[in-house]
Amino acid sequence: MLSKQMEKNLQNRSAIREVFEYGIELGKKIGPENVFDFSLGNPATPAPEKFKEAVVDLVQNEDSMLLNGYTDNSGYQDVRQAIAEDLNKRYGTDMDFHNIVMSVGAAGALNTVFKAILDIDDEVIFFAPYFSEYVNYVSNFYAKHVVVRPNTETFQPDLADFEAKISEKTKAVIINSPNNPSGTVYSEETIQAIAEILNRKQKEYNKEIYLISDEPYRELLYDGAKHTFVTNYYDNTFVCYSYSKSLSLPGERIGYVAFSKKMAEAGRMEVALKIATRVLGFVNAPSLIQKAVKACLEESTPLDYYAANREILYNGLLNAGFECVKPQGAFYIFLKSPIADDIAFCEKAKEFNLMLVHGTSFECPGFCRLTYCISKEKIERSIPQFEKLAQAFGLTPKK
Ligand code: PLP
Repeated sequence: MLSKQMEKNLQNRSAIREVFEYGIELGKKIGPENVFDFSLGNPATPAPEKFKEAVVDLVQNEDSMLLNGYTDNSGYQDVRQAIAEDLNKRYGTDMDFHNIVMSVGAAGALNTVFKAILDIDDEVIFFAPYFSEYVNYVSNFYAKHVVVRPNTETFQPDLADFEAKISEKTKAVIINSPNNPSGTVYSEETIQAIAEILNRKQKEYNKEIYLISDEPYRELLYDGAKHTFVTNYYDNTFVCYSYSKSLSLPGERIGYVAFSKKMAEAGRMEVALKIATRVLGFVNAPSLIQKAVKACLEESTPLDYYAANREILYNGLLNAGFECVKPQGAFYIFLKSPIADDIAFCEKAKEFNLMLVHGTSFECPGFCRLTYCISKEKIERSIPQFEKLAQAFGLTPKK
């Protein structure tokens, strides 16, 4: 018999996976080249050459007993130290290996942090729209989530609603900038304001409230947008990072948790994260891949590729008559549905072979998400389909 929680999961299938699978089935009928799948955030560019070279070099030249064996639950010390130094160089932090715990992607990092800090019925605050897996991660630990309403004009956080939602039950707050699904990047002022509110609330309730910065898209920034490194602004911050998008390694399951030396009980937190990695059954992040990412710390994301896709898709949608805020980061566009019912809109889009994910699944009805981490050629060929979709809703083309 399945658990009650799993029964719920069976009822609530992932909207992203559902539309992706629909696209695969449709491709069998009309040819995959005729399906415009904007559903999955699977990077469209290959991992850097350096990664392949590093893997080959490691496999050929390192002692396989060490390379393929268990590592410390927090990862190889030299890898953690190299990552800490890289963060110090890029963001002016003051970290060493004690501040880094290697993880199984950002998903593993988030679950590890939650295991370390959450008790039953604790509350975790999310800003809508948010990555829907957060709900599952928090409920893994029988905690609850509380949602700050979206600001659908800018997709910047609604700070007044945020402050109102903090209670003595609040244990943590998740932010995700650059954001999935809106592509919004939080400014330094926004991070300062969040830190200021949290510092005040920590004093009011005389307890730690953790800020969890989920950063798989940290390097995917356009038009001069800058990433604000949150540990520099708020001591009780966990940064959950992943190489899934920045090095195009989503299947390799590699990332880390970083936290400041100034975090409350920083020493005990390192041990707690290490234990969490072990008892969750991750045991350690993949050992060979830890070493391979260490060799790739200087590698950069193929930004030009995504930036070009963003321009084509954004302009194509606008010209077709749709509305959306131009994303400053990540590889998603959050399109305003021309009708209030975003689920019905995404269903209609399927008739034009367009696979879009409804905003309801990100707790932001009235919108839908399109990923532009697909080929440029596919995006170009999709524009006439979007034009037909726009016409079906009576939108006026802008060209
Ligand atoms: N957080 C956000 C906002 C994401 O979009 C994703 C994946 O798409 C994750 C976390 C999980 O990333 P990972 O593949 O590193 O586990």
